[in-house]
Amino acid sequence: MDYETVIGLEIHVQLLTQSKMFCGCSTRFGAPPNTQTCPVCLGLPGALPVINRRAVELGLRAALVLHCTVHPTSQFHRKNYYYPDLPKNYQISQYQYLEHPPLATDGYLEIEVDGQRRRVGIRRVHLEEDTGKLVHPEEGNVSWVDYNRSGVPLMEIVTYPDLRSPQEARAFLLKLRQVLQYAEVSTGRMEEGTLRCDANVSLRRPGEPLGVRTEVKNMNSIRSVERALAYEVARQRELLERGEAVVQETRHWDERRGVTFASRSKEEAEDYRYFPEPDLVPVEVTPEWLEEVRRGVPELPDARRDRIMAQYALGRYDAELLVQTRATADFFEAAVAAHPSPKAIANWMLGEVSAYLNEHNLEIEQLRITPAQLAELVRLVEDGTISGRIAKDVIAEMLQTGDSPRSIVDRQGLVQISDEAALRETVEAVIQDNPGPVRDVLAGKEKAVAFLVGQVMRRTQGRANPALVQRLLRERLGLLGG
Ligand SMILES: [Zn+2]
Repeated sequence: MDYETVIGLEIHVQLLTQSKMFCGCSTRFGAPPNTQTCPVCLGLPGALPVINRRAVELGLRAALVLHCTVHPTSQFHRKNYYYPDLPKNYQISQYQYLEHPPLATDGYLEIEVDGQRRRVGIRRVHLEEDTGKLVHPEEGNVSWVDYNRSGVPLMEIVTYPDLRSPQEARAFLLKLRQVLQYAEVSTGRMEEGTLRCDANVSLRRPGEPLGVRTEVKNMNSIRSVERALAYEVARQRELLERGEAVVQETRHWDERRGVTFASRSKEEAEDYRYFPEPDLVPVEVTPEWLEEVRRGVPELPDARRDRIMAQYALGRYDAELLVQTRATADFFEAAVAAHPSPKAIANWMLGEVSAYLNEHNLEIEQLRITPAQLAELVRLVEDGTISGRIAKDVIAEMLQTGDSPRSIVDRQGLVQISDEAALRETVEAVIQDNPGPVRDVLAGKEKAVAFLVGQVMRRTQGRANPALVQRLLRERLGLLGG
């Protein structure tokens, strides 16, 4: 009997606020070290925290999107431990403490893996503050600490151990990031640390109680989460098959070597001595406030996919790809607003544009072309100014340079030849030079027509209007009429 994999995730998400959780300091990424601090986030004696209302609203928004129960009253607690990146020696967090619940509990997120849809349970959503960051320079036997991140608003999302494979964990993270981005709760950029994930993983025989689990940390992309979990599952399986025990421990993922290794966690305390934060009042969420937050939730990916399918008559597959990120869906709808040819615009976006992004490892936000320029390209094809084949060269040039299609077409003289007299001459020349294919055409071989059209296109460097060439050839060979 094979083992069953059991995975639960703990995800820390930086909330998309201008200022920190309990003070007015900026949360801007990439500022010089220790330039975004004040007595509150440096934990100086006597400084008093004040709850950032916007952070609570974003937490509520996430709770609603994840179908959680929001508790009318929740309480911040002090989580006590010692570490140099934590100047107060406690982190303000929310915890299931006596009668005080966290912000929200018991929701779900639906994922799809191999065509199978499944609900993954959310145990809780709570708010807390981030710690500072230790920097270990290569030179010299020193460590530095940067408190810019200290007090940045975080939301922790904890799942039930409902995931059954590393692929499902990946699908869950992709979906979670997508809905949080759509809901404008977080940028979800793992490489900037605005989304971080730890994973609990264990194996068991189906039907048996949960096995001993390890906690895997230090994964800095969704891909590394999947790789680290696959490694950890294989490692545990090998131990169990040899009759050895899995040790409950924290393990770090080494991206370069592709392995996990046992390591001490910075939070080793057995007991964090949680107690209610005496400097903060409880968070009270009235039904009116929750309703206001609910009304403010932007359109989510599944709803947008369904709307795009209906509004622009697109298939589910195309629509699904177009809503993959909010920026992609925005680009598409802006282009369609500039020129209402949704199918053609979708084809360019999912074809040439997406291939270019993959090849250069770029996000759509980094494109040099605008939605209006893509719309203009489609218009130039539809009004016959350029052929579809030439359009492929034009978009390649657009993506490289950011120039408008009209200026590329003018500069390179790519305007389609629709002048009948000019094309008749070329058609005549092609017929004279290709007696064999002409005989085939006259013998009823349709493929030979395409060959002759291709020859005309070649002689005009792809600029001839193919439909017109087709008609002129057929006329000249007496194939029309009847
Ligand atoms: Zn501050």
